[in-house]
Amino acid sequence: MNTKLTQSPTLAARYIAHGEVVAFPTETVYGLGANLFNESAIRKIFEAKGRPTDNPLIAHIAELDQLRSIAREVPPIAQTLVDAFFPGPLTLVLPKHEQIPLIATAGLNTIGVRMPQHPIARQFLTACGMPLVAPSANLSGRPSPTTWQAVREDLNGRIACILKGDPAKVGLESTVVDCTGKAPVILRAGGVTLEQLREVLPETEIANPGHAEAPKSPGMKYRHYSPDARVVISIFPQFTAPVGDSAYIGIDPPPRLDGFKKFLLCREVAEYAHALFQFFRECDEEGIQTIFCQAVQEKGLGLALMDRIRRAAHE
Ligand code: AMP
Ligand code: MG
Repeated sequence: MNTKLTQSPTLAARYIAHGEVVAFPTETVYGLGANLFNESAIRKIFEAKGRPTDNPLIAHIAELDQLRSIAREVPPIAQTLVDAFFPGPLTLVLPKHEQIPLIATAGLNTIGVRMPQHPIARQFLTACGMPLVAPSANLSGRPSPTTWQAVREDLNGRIACILKGDPAKVGLESTVVDCTGKAPVILRAGGVTLEQLREVLPETEIANPGHAEAPKSPGMKYRHYSPDARVVISIFPQFTAPVGDSAYIGIDPPPRLDGFKKFLLCREVAEYAHALFQFFRECDEEGIQTIFCQAVQEKGLGLALMDRIRRAAHE
């Protein structure tokens, strides 16, 4: 398949209308979209990514009234989060409308819904005129793509079209919050922080804190976000010493930075989160064997950042 590269949301939307899949920019990472109501188009997402079929997809909307065709009901806690955080990097898990094909939700009777903030994503969704389902636009198991070039690296020849945009602003995926119980539960940490959620709903909890196996979020059990290189979490950068062809990413420099073949020092956690996946990809391209990642405090965006680093380190 010849993968079309375009900057035109309307041209990209035509591929969706023809039942094809299209990669598009969002503020979190690049997504791989298909018509939410077209089973065979959705199947192409799983095929292109090599995604296990028991890993549900997130519905993406441009307008709030599209929620009614996706969710059977919007409980009051979900409405509060919609009012506070839509559009933005937050996915709400809601009871699913019966018209949604089960392939989209991997057989679950709930569905994750998000309204992206990114102007090109919004233009594209509006041009499609329908909600899309979209996971991250990478091969399953690889670091999520934060640039269109990273999408092309993984999916060239496997998808119909890539809608080009700028590098993703957040660089980590959306926060997934289960809204089907009494209190909101974070199933995956992401771009909207626990602290921000607790400002509007103080009862917000985290599922299995610090651990990957939230049974309500099947996707979290899979190996994720991994470069080919070995990832090592560096708790005390002052003790971190390079081993073989190694790289370092963090905020504080280790004492022997010159021994690293590649390094990136970030000013703060948001910049670190923004850079991580791209850094992983560059390390693989450059044949790095070990990547040392400085541990950060698990507050604010640091919670999502440490979650991704731990998964990459297989901890
Ligand atoms: P991705 O689209 O690649 O960022 O992955 C989507 C993530 O959201 C996976 O970890 C899924 O398990 C999670 N997710 C999507 N839909 C649901 C749902 N209905 N219930 C629980 N988790 C979900
Ligand atoms: Mg993904």
